[in-house]
Parts: sequence; structure tokens; C-alpha cells
Amino acid sequence: MEQIVQQIEAYKQEISAFEPKNADELEQYRIKFLGTKGIVKAIFGEMKQVPNERKKEFGQILNAFKQLAEERYETFAHLKDAAASGTNDIDYTLPAEPHRLGTRHPISIVRNKIIRIFERLGFTIAEGPEIEDDWHNFTALNLPENHPARDMTDTFYINQNPDWLLRTHTSSVQVRAMENSKMPIRIICPGRVYRNETISARAHCFFHQVEGLYIAENVSFADLKQTLYHFVKEMFGENSEVRFRPSYFPFTEPSAEMDVTCFICGGKGCSVCKHTGWVEILGCGMVHPEVLRNCGIDPEKYTGFAFGMGIERITMLKYQIKDLRLFSENDQRFLKQFETAL
Ligand SMILES: [Zn+2]
Repeated sequence: MEQIVQQIEAYKQEISAFEPKNADELEQYRIKFLGTKGIVKAIFGEMKQVPNERKKEFGQILNAFKQLAEERYETFAHLKDAAASGTNDIDYTLPAEPHRLGTRHPISIVRNKIIRIFERLGFTIAEGPEIEDDWHNFTALNLPENHPARDMTDTFYINQNPDWLLRTHTSSVQVRAMENSKMPIRIICPGRVYRNETISARAHCFFHQVEGLYIAENVSFADLKQTLYHFVKEMFGENSEVRFRPSYFPFTEPSAEMDVTCFICGGKGCSVCKHTGWVEILGCGMVHPEVLRNCGIDPEKYTGFAFGMGIERITMLKYQIKDLRLFSENDQRFLKQFETAL
């Protein structure tokens, strides 16, 4: 037994002097002392040779030895972790991994492009509340009380107050601007609007519009056309052509809808433009004198034009997106496709 105790003392010195430089040396140490065929286990096997009256004393020596071997191993265990995670030899002077920035939503890309074009023409952005009152959303805009657009099936009303609703168009912002602004008024109103529609690939309960309004002395339909010509060429390219079709809106007179050359086929005809070569992108017209009067503007002195377009529609045409619901589902596979600006 004395021989074994001496041997243990020698191992203890070896263990205390052990200073591994890497995970490999540490592993060799583990196999040598702590492995299933290692020294600690072998010496425990000597226990049966020890006389009974000395077993207690020998057991204490053995336990102390085992503890020392294990503690030494734990002292250097970080070498093993570092090797496993591959960060053993980081160069801290290297530049950090760049953060991956999120991508812009396609609706934002198109909206920003529309805004920039009109800002260069001197239009400023105007915004208003999404919860509106009847006056700003309907009445001031010459929408008679029995107009279909006021029907409960199209509009979300607020329970607490029957006069409140979720705005159905951003024209309400134009009304607020006309009530408060000094002449001339030259604004664009981008924003979210709400309609009580059954959600499908082609309809949603909310979507986005950009509307524009210009009111000053002697504004004519020719000014409206010039402004929109410029917009179309900036937005869809130099070769784009436009055509106006007579239409009806309660808040403009005369009113028109504007088509542009299909930007998918260049006017030759394709499935997107239903083989007509044209796609409809906006509604416009001269502001109705009654609307001007409602907002405290003298229609004998001032005239103006207004236009409005759906951002979703233009985005769907531009990127050939077939389902409106994709815009609001937050599916990364969809959203990641729009990294480059339009
Ligand atoms: Zn086409």
C-alpha cells in the first residue's frame, strides 16, 4: 500500500504541474487520468488489496486524488469550449460582421417614388387622421346622403359615435387642407384607407392611396394633364403614353380616369392589360365648385384639380403581384424580393 500512496503523490505533482496549451493536450490529460481506462479508475481498483482496517484512510487519499485530477481538468475546460465554437483564435481587429438590414416593403418603395416625383414639382405632403368624421370623409366632398359609397357595407363606422368612421379615401385630408390652408394649395396625401370588403386576391379591408390637390387662381384641366403627363413619364418611363376617359366622381367636375401604356408589354397587349395595351392607374378631375364652397373657398376666384391612385394597384402592376393579400401577410419569402429600390 505504501507503494501506491507514493505513486499517487507522484501523480499529484504531475497533475499540479499540468498546463495544457490547447484542447488536444487537455483531452490527452482527460484520457490518461479520468478516462474509463485512466489512472484514477485503476487506482480505485487497488482498493480491494488494501487491508480492511486501512480502507478508510486509503479511501480518503483516493478521493482527494480524484478531486484534484477533476479540478485540474475543470480549470482548463474553457479550452475545449473555445475549440468547439471555433472562436479559439478570433482576430479582434477584424471589422464586425455587417448587420443585415431589412428590406423595404414594396408598398413603401412605390409610395416613396410617387412622393418624390410630386415633391420635385413643389407639392408638399399632408396627412390626416384615419378615424374621420362624416363631414370630412363624405359631406364636404359633395357625397349626398344616399350615395352608395356611404352605404354601411362599404364603410367601417365606429360604434361609440355614428358620426365617426375609418376614412374610405385620403380625400378627407384634402378637405382639412382646404379648410385650413392659405392659397395656393399644392399637396399630396399618402395614407392608409379602409373599406368593408371581403378579403380576397383582389380586394382588402385596407389599402393605400396617394391623392394630390392643387388649388390656385386660373388652374385648368390643361394644368392637370401636364402634371400627370410629367408624373407618368417619371414613374413609368419616357415612352409611356396616357389617355383620359370621361368618368364620374362626386367631388370633381369634369372627372376622368387615366390609363397609361401597359408597362409590362409596352402597349403590344398582354394578359396584365387584358390585351388592350393600356392599364388604368388613377382617377382625377377639376375640384367640384360645391366642394370648394364647402371648404370656404370662393369657386369664382379659385379653381383646382385633384387626382388619386391606389398604391397597391400600381405596385401589383409594376411587380406583377397577383394577390393583394401578400402585402399584409408579412411572409419573409415575399418581402425579401424587394431589396432594390423601384
Ligand atoms: Zn400589357
